[in-house]
Amino acid sequence: MNHYMPTRLITGRDCVKKSPEELKRIGDSVLVVTGRNGARACGALGDVEEALKSNGQKWVLYDKIGQNPKLEDCMEAAKLAIEWAVDGVVGIGGGSPLDAAKCIAVLAANPGMTKEQLYGLMWKNSPLKIAAVGTTAGTGSEVTKVSVITTDGRKKSFHHDALYPLLSFGDAGYTMTLPEQFTRSTAVDAMAHCVESYFSKAADGLSRNFAVSGICILLEVFKKMQQSGGADMACEAMSYQDREKCYEASIYGGLAINKTGTCFPHTMGYLLTEDYGIPHGTACAVFLPEFYAYNRRVASGLSEKFLEDIHVGEEEFIGLIKAITSECKVAISEEKIAKAHGRWENNNSIRKCQGEMTADEADDILRRIFPRFLS
Ligand SMILES: [Zn+2]
Repeated sequence: MNHYMPTRLITGRDCVKKSPEELKRIGDSVLVVTGRNGARACGALGDVEEALKSNGQKWVLYDKIGQNPKLEDCMEAAKLAIEWAVDGVVGIGGGSPLDAAKCIAVLAANPGMTKEQLYGLMWKNSPLKIAAVGTTAGTGSEVTKVSVITTDGRKKSFHHDALYPLLSFGDAGYTMTLPEQFTRSTAVDAMAHCVESYFSKAADGLSRNFAVSGICILLEVFKKMQQSGGADMACEAMSYQDREKCYEASIYGGLAINKTGTCFPHTMGYLLTEDYGIPHGTACAVFLPEFYAYNRRVASGLSEKFLEDIHVGEEEFIGLIKAITSECKVAISEEKIAKAHGRWENNNSIRKCQGEMTADEADDILRRIFPRFLS
């Protein structure tokens, strides 16, 4: 085995308020990075500002990170970080602000860096110190060395050991105000991380244990949601305890993909997010039933072991994922499938799938899931 995860992770109700001094480790002055509203609305930004104030730290706020963070926005935020000569970056949010915070930490430490240097890991200086405050239960970015940033309309990732947050806080209370759509899409994102990681060729015993732990927790919550009148109603009524379970599962997902990366549901999900605006988690989870079927075909022993590990039958497993994943109303034309074909060739995440998955198989998966325009 070969695992590395150096982040100090603190979770629990009011964890920022209870351990404000931990933020001192990020430096005397910090850039706080958030989305437009969520971090303030859920109380996380207020808690972090209060903590920074009590520690005597200076801070400047950049609150313009959108969904699927853009490189231009990270560059703008990095300029602010350089201008204020900050020591570290505190990202507050779901995957978008957290991934952006990692990117900004690299850009701010390397003024004038080009896009090629950023994605090519040609960094002269180490990134600034990073802290992550999670406000959704999906990404797992709090415990990973990965940042996914959109450039020229495409989601592109880079990973490096120096991108691990020094410190992460996870208070499930911040997820209480998440709208239904995001509660569902982030929950199925966490599920996708765990399932993809389990079946990855790069998985080992430890990463599979993380994945199974996350899946079992999520299945229990999904069952409860289904029994209480369907996902839409259940999200509104979701208790703190269940949200805490989802948060814990998202961390297991992060720890699992930290070792393995993701497989074809994520790679193919990017297409749905980039071209059709489907939220990240939904875009990936819509491929999970096909992903399971693919693994049953090419790795039957492993998929049998998988069902044993998660203590749920195949039908129930797929049924629960479908019940919680929001509908994905997309029609993909043959022209679109042909245009995307090149993306599946020599792709790292596709190479990590069991067997030898081909780009033609990816095309067929798109054909099976999405109704086509008749041309
Ligand atoms: Zn994801």
